[in-house]
Amino acid sequence: MTQLRQKYERLLDGVMKPGRYLGNERGAVRKNPKDVALRFALAFPEVYEIAQSHPGLQLLYDILNRRRDVYAERSYAPWPDMEAALRRAGLPLVSLETFTPLADFDILGFSLQYELTYTNLLLMLDLGGIPLHAAERGARDPLVIAGGPCAFNPEPLADFLDAVLLGDGEEAVHEICDTYLAWDGRERGDLLRALGRIRGVYVPALFRPDYDDQGRLLAIASLGEQTVVEKRTLRDLNDVPTQETYVVPTVSIVHDRPSLEVMRGCVKGCRFCQAGYIYRPLRERDPARVLEQAEVAVKATGCDELSLLSLSTGDYSCVNPVITEVMNRFASRKIAVSLPSTRVDALAAPLLEQIKRVRKTGFTLAPEAGTQRMRDIIQKEYTEAELINAAKQIFDLGWRHLKLYFMLGLPSETEDDLRGIAELSARVAAAGGFKREVTASVSNFVPKPQTPFQWAAQIPIEEIEARQQFLKRELARRRVKFKWHDARESYLEGIFSRGDRRLGRLLSTAYSLGCRFDGWSEMLRMDLWEEAWRRCGIDPDNYLRRRLLDEVLPWDHLGSGVTKKFLQRELALAFERTLTPDCSIERCTYCGACDFKAIRNVTYHLRGAKGGEHRGPTVDAWARDTVPGTAEGAWEPRGWHLAEAKKQGIDLRPADSIDQSGSTAAAAEAHTGRIPSAHASEAGKARADGNAEEWLNAGSSALVPRATQHDQVRCRVRIRYSKLDLARFIGHLELGTVFFRAARRANLPVAHSQGYHPLPRFSFGPALTLGVDSDCEYLDIELTERLPATEVAARLDAELPPGLSILEAREVGPRAASIEGSILGFRYAVQLDEETEVADLDDRVARFLQSEEFRIHKHAKGGDRSVDARPYVSQLQRTGERTLLVTLLFGPRGTIKPGELVTALLGRPRTDAVRLRVHKLETFFRPEAGESLGSLSAEI
Ligand code: SF4
Repeated sequence: MTQLRQKYERLLDGVMKPGRYLGNERGAVRKNPKDVALRFALAFPEVYEIAQSHPGLQLLYDILNRRRDVYAERSYAPWPDMEAALRRAGLPLVSLETFTPLADFDILGFSLQYELTYTNLLLMLDLGGIPLHAAERGARDPLVIAGGPCAFNPEPLADFLDAVLLGDGEEAVHEICDTYLAWDGRERGDLLRALGRIRGVYVPALFRPDYDDQGRLLAIASLGEQTVVEKRTLRDLNDVPTQETYVVPTVSIVHDRPSLEVMRGCVKGCRFCQAGYIYRPLRERDPARVLEQAEVAVKATGCDELSLLSLSTGDYSCVNPVITEVMNRFASRKIAVSLPSTRVDALAAPLLEQIKRVRKTGFTLAPEAGTQRMRDIIQKEYTEAELINAAKQIFDLGWRHLKLYFMLGLPSETEDDLRGIAELSARVAAAGGFKREVTASVSNFVPKPQTPFQWAAQIPIEEIEARQQFLKRELARRRVKFKWHDARESYLEGIFSRGDRRLGRLLSTAYSLGCRFDGWSEMLRMDLWEEAWRRCGIDPDNYLRRRLLDEVLPWDHLGSGVTKKFLQRELALAFERTLTPDCSIERCTYCGACDFKAIRNVTYHLRGAKGGEHRGPTVDAWARDTVPGTAEGAWEPRGWHLAEAKKQGIDLRPADSIDQSGSTAAAAEAHTGRIPSAHASEAGKARADGNAEEWLNAGSSALVPRATQHDQVRCRVRIRYSKLDLARFIGHLELGTVFFRAARRANLPVAHSQGYHPLPRFSFGPALTLGVDSDCEYLDIELTERLPATEVAARLDAELPPGLSILEAREVGPRAASIEGSILGFRYAVQLDEETEVADLDDRVARFLQSEEFRIHKHAKGGDRSVDARPYVSQLQRTGERTLLVTLLFGPRGTIKPGELVTALLGRPRTDAVRLRVHKLETFFRPEAGESLGSLSAEI
């Protein structure tokens, strides 16, 4: 190990941020690997700064290392400079703690937080010395497992993973370790089958997707005991022991603060939010345990900030007393408290008063949508007046920056909804008297599995960019800062988010082409991805399409607890713009996540909806002491009071100053005509004709024409054609039109480019001089269907005008170099006219061949200029009384015209060149892999 460590240390000099690879942090667990029965590598397919910020991974590190028989270490994706250094040195990827190659671990457990880390996962397996495909691994290879939100549709990774854990890992990870330890180490299949019996563990090899001849998914057949894998749910968050191990990074990381998880799950039901469905039900942590954790974290890390973590911390029952107590204990030590982005209706003055006690730099709210119509669709319960009030409070308490999170591209989004984002942001800025910085941070909607919007279409890249441009203009006019997300990343995320098992091939192809760190704009190589789906024959747009409600989905065999029926009901309610109540306070809406025995909502409310466990009475006295002067229950969060009042028919929310009622929304819809079948009902609430299926079908309105979507190229045919007689006077540009029209007449399935004006994907070779005959012109045609090259040639030839004939055709691979990029030179026959004096022609040719420089006038767009022709001429030979054979080289600087060369050779004016007859006889190509120039080498 020492030797290996020394080899790694020698690499560190040459890489950026060597601190990423040191593994010498305070808090890193040190054990003797020989003293344990099982070695577990916790892998995160991202660079250190992101990986080390992830609290879930740190929690598992603590849980596993509590066991005496297990040693858990960490391994993260190396940045490309380190990858290159490892490959140069022939070293594998290792763990941070003991520099052990990943292939030497028993279990490698990946955390899957984001689809754009998938190629990094392959990188880690490959560099770690582990066979990429699960089917290729033997008994001695590590067991490769994964968990995290992407586990709820891991099908694109199914070929590479041995097992996947759905849901909470705290208990299941022990069962996985125990199962591994109980395995006799012989047959890997035995281990997989045993793992498949653990609740929440999905073994992809025990399921097989079946497709019809059209490529549609018919079913996912079970090959083992389970037909549906249900997720694992931790009954009570208090069952997780207080985290003791905190690794303190030596380099700066993205979230450089301990996170204290205050609750898991969220039942607010935002219809786009995957976490809100896959982590149900709501389970709050005992406030005493949160405070205990805060003490340990501060002591272990020496941090100056604590984060209260959950999907919506402002809604945590004990948020007021917990934050007050945290500040009472730590404010004097200048330790601040931060919350992740906060729901608007959860914000209350006492909460803000506490947070600002130490630092007040930036604050983030998540309005998500700009109009009431869209808020109703996505299930956001706040009103505009509440948002403005919250912003005012934030500004009055001294915050200088306010970030607002929005989303674009949501189902049925209209131009008015987009403009609403700008208008709402401007009204927030006005609440701060335009003296505070307001930023609208707008992400792109990506439909996620296991949500009501899983059936919706995702808008294409061009449409996202058009909407971003629209917002940019609208926000700039209102002097609100704008941040947006890379449309290309959202496109890729959308493909893999709802992808199926066939994408495994795409992933390994993209990886082998060099795709890495796809979630980093500067690293994302769309050209390589395009190449990958061309090679695999995959139409990526097919993964962005809307799904039919009765269609088999690639994740139908994976249960998040929430039923498909419930999700469909939520989709219908979205279309009707109807909100679903919070089931922890108002009533259960039967999503399926609770069994009401062991699994149910656990809250610290004084009272709440039936079926949940409300532990508020046990903490009431303490909470009232912590927040002095409050009446019974008054310490509970604002959201709880609003919902409680609503139950009793009272609306505590401030009235909107602006009419955002259904009638306004309906009027806007009528004005734009963009909402399918919508009209205002008597109640003033817009309802729609038809059903949710039709609503989805109508899709959202587009700012760019649909024609901008690019075609999937299935084959590329290279054609050689002749251009003779009168056809030699057809100019290069017109030639394009002649061929395009011929192809259309021939009914060839020609692929088109993307953009506002899609063009047929034809690539011609270099332009032929007007008036020159040729038997060797080339053209590549890309087609959306695979056709035999001979058929393409015959059909096209039949439609060409006289003088143009197809001589041969062959299919070329998608990666073949372009025509222009592979040409080495041309051979011409130049026929001199009868008036030309040829008595000294041999002498002139001989002098030319002996010369080192030969200047000619070259006619170009910018005017005539003198160039040295000698380097371009490979061969010059008199082959008849008035005939010369000329071979000219073609390179990055182009070539020269044979007529110009020969007129200069004869000492005639350049304009005489037109009196020659030139015939292009041959085009020489660079040899393809495995070929040699052969006899051509003498000439070229
Ligand atoms: S089953 Fe009922 S109480 Fe439980 S999470 Fe679903 S809606 Fe809420």
